[in-house]
Amino acid sequence: MGKQWKKIGWGLLVMAMTFGMSNWAFDLIRPVRAEETDMHAIYALEYRDGSWSDWVSGGRALTKPGSLPVALKIGLENQPEGMTGTIQYQVNVSGFGWTDPFENAAVAGQESADAMLEGVRVWLNGELEQHYDVYTSALVNGAWLDWALNGQDAGKVGVGTHMDGMCVTITKKGEQPKEKPAQTGRTLDPARPMVALTFDDGPSSYDLRIMNALEAVGGRGTFFMIGQKVPRRRDIVERMCKGGHELGNHSWNHPDLTKLSSAQVASQIQNTNNAIAAIAGHPATVMRPPYGAVNGTVKATLASMGYAASLWSIDTLDWKTRNADNTVNTVLKQVRDGDVVLMHSLYEASTVAAERIIPELSARGYQLVTLTELANARGGMTPGRGYGAFR
Ligand SMILES: [Zn+2]
Repeated sequence: MGKQWKKIGWGLLVMAMTFGMSNWAFDLIRPVRAEETDMHAIYALEYRDGSWSDWVSGGRALTKPGSLPVALKIGLENQPEGMTGTIQYQVNVSGFGWTDPFENAAVAGQESADAMLEGVRVWLNGELEQHYDVYTSALVNGAWLDWALNGQDAGKVGVGTHMDGMCVTITKKGEQPKEKPAQTGRTLDPARPMVALTFDDGPSSYDLRIMNALEAVGGRGTFFMIGQKVPRRRDIVERMCKGGHELGNHSWNHPDLTKLSSAQVASQIQNTNNAIAAIAGHPATVMRPPYGAVNGTVKATLASMGYAASLWSIDTLDWKTRNADNTVNTVLKQVRDGDVVLMHSLYEASTVAAERIIPELSARGYQLVTLTELANARGGMTPGRGYGAFR
């Protein structure tokens, strides 16, 4: 019995006895009914670096940017005295599948040091199951998925994604759960203008300066990376994840994809995704063909892999001019709501330009968003199609 209820219970009992209502008093000390408690779930995640989160309770979002959950534990607080049952759960571990059920805050997961959680199922048993419902949501690719009820799968299992966070909430049987947590803790105002700044051909050390400038104004960027460079700059990719930036696929070694077969295009994309996923735990969420070059074969191959061709609406030509003033002016003179700006994180001049453009756009009221954030705010992207601006 929870402390709080004990207090209230004794208070009512004393009150009842004071008024000589012994039948009512007897009624009060029978096993507590569901609606008379504030039982809630508590839960914690273990991350790939071996650290555990604090316990979180009562449907609050448990997530840490850039962390990769590998195990979890779930328990109950304030379980009504005399009511049988417990909370049980199993996790889906990447490469291993569903574990056996666990209960009472035992650790589920840890199949290997870097096998991440793809999903979780949570349910109650015993008398608890007759009086309560348990709802679970997983954070996947920046979105809290719909509530999973009483043992349904929370998370997307078997599609190469993993959970970045979770929340568990318990309601009285048949009652609606409260609202899911806000998306990633980042609130964008759809009524205010947005621009997506994109940086190609990294990862590179310049990305660090660009990310710092973006984060200083609450912005996020999109980095279209060349696959073969990714394993050499693990630190940069981890930093991108941590900062909530978007990881883009820019092929393995930057060929003109229109000169390749469908199978070759697919392997350019897949190899790059494997390199990114080895660090980030998930593949790139957007794809930009080198030179923006697409034909029917490239589009069909992209479509089969679930990608649109992410192009741009402002080409700074920074790679050609290598002149910061020129790049700054190109952007600031023509920028409009919904633009996608193409820059390269290969040059000092581009980095200096970004460090000037970013605070200026922010001062003008633009929200600096990832490509997916911009697309989602403006109707989304269809795989196989090409996109410049989103207006
Ligand atoms: Zn490029």
